[in-house]
Amino acid sequence: MDDLPSIDPALAYGYPVGPQHHPLGRVRHLLGVAAGDTAIPATRIMLERSARQRAERLKSAVRARRRVGRGTMRALIIGAGGRVGWHDVPAPPAPGPLAALVHPIAVATCDIDRPMGLGRTPFPLPMHFGHECVAEVVEVGERVTTVHPGDRVVVPFQISCGTCGPCRSGLTSNCVDVPPVSMYGFGLAGGHWGGAYSDLLTVPYADGMLVPLPNGVDPAAAASVADNVVDGYRAVAPHLPDLLTRGPSVEVLILSEIGRRPPFSASVVMYAGLIAKALGAGTVHLVDRRPHVRRHAAALGLHPLTPRELRKLPGVPLVVDSTGTSAGIGTAIKHTAPDGTCVSLSSIARSSKLPTALMYGRNVTHHLGRAHARANIPAVLDLMASGALRPERVTTHLGSLDRADTLVRDHLLGEATKTIAVE
Ligand SMILES: [Zn+2]
Ligand SMILES: [Zn+2]
Repeated sequence: MDDLPSIDPALAYGYPVGPQHHPLGRVRHLLGVAAGDTAIPATRIMLERSARQRAERLKSAVRARRRVGRGTMRALIIGAGGRVGWHDVPAPPAPGPLAALVHPIAVATCDIDRPMGLGRTPFPLPMHFGHECVAEVVEVGERVTTVHPGDRVVVPFQISCGTCGPCRSGLTSNCVDVPPVSMYGFGLAGGHWGGAYSDLLTVPYADGMLVPLPNGVDPAAAASVADNVVDGYRAVAPHLPDLLTRGPSVEVLILSEIGRRPPFSASVVMYAGLIAKALGAGTVHLVDRRPHVRRHAAALGLHPLTPRELRKLPGVPLVVDSTGTSAGIGTAIKHTAPDGTCVSLSSIARSSKLPTALMYGRNVTHHLGRAHARANIPAVLDLMASGALRPERVTTHLGSLDRADTLVRDHLLGEATKTIAVE
């Protein structure tokens, strides 16, 4: 398809054009990875359960790279200093009995991609980039029964087997058959499973992971369902039904960027807002200090607030905290009404101070953790197939997969909310 560097939404909402952010150089990036606030807890989680399982995974990733005689494929690799480029790498081997090879046809940026690609997170560069995609199945192993070559599927960003205890309970981000925090597109830190900006991707458990795209759902609209849309879903969907039994209208407050932090984009908060509305919430406030994000939120039917305006807002029964900061968690809890729920989607601080006396006095429930992406994907696709949810309204930049190097570089340095590359 033709390349459109900036489609209507970005123009209409006054998104800044051109570079707004700077990548860290190699030395500062590596120093940050080694000495950063989260390096120790991140390493501890990676080696939890079984260091041997992690070592085996890395050995098999290296073995797969070295196997010769099966050709090469394109993969988008990001190095420190903002170097983004297509590289020729060994193509993955034929799939094992439970696996599939898929060909990504629509790839979305994740909100963490900008800080990660700029070298401002604990995830070491270089890495094979991309972890949200819709793909076409190319080849399946002999024991795969639910998907077939030619099927269009959502590929969850987390690796899970579908059969272990946690997977069967819907706790797919803690699958015990793979090392902890196994993910596409996070390089070494995610376990070297490859990235979605590539000609081919290996899905180790095809029946456990892949979810067929419903008829009539556009791959570009569903590209981010692999991660960010389900992240928005799990922030509100489990909590709204109970709150709605207490009264006809439930207000929701979503905290996006309210202070200084690495330059995340704001798609999860917009998806959470759209899903809250689709599931019956009343007014959905979205707080972000960036004017273009507030204008975009208003166009989606959300109520935009500046961080200053937030101070006057009374307590709200459901608060979604996407700040990732210690101060942000505190602010979110302070704005949670009695018997309300506060959901923190991430934490980029090693530890945080919680207003526990206030939480006790108000009976506030606080959730903090990672999404179980695979378990929530079918419900999100159902909402899309029914027309109740249109994630494409959050997309600001769209272009061709062949030019993903330029698209991704523009995304990292600029201020897009959601960049989608399609075949
Ligand atoms: Zn992500
Ligand atoms: Zn599992």
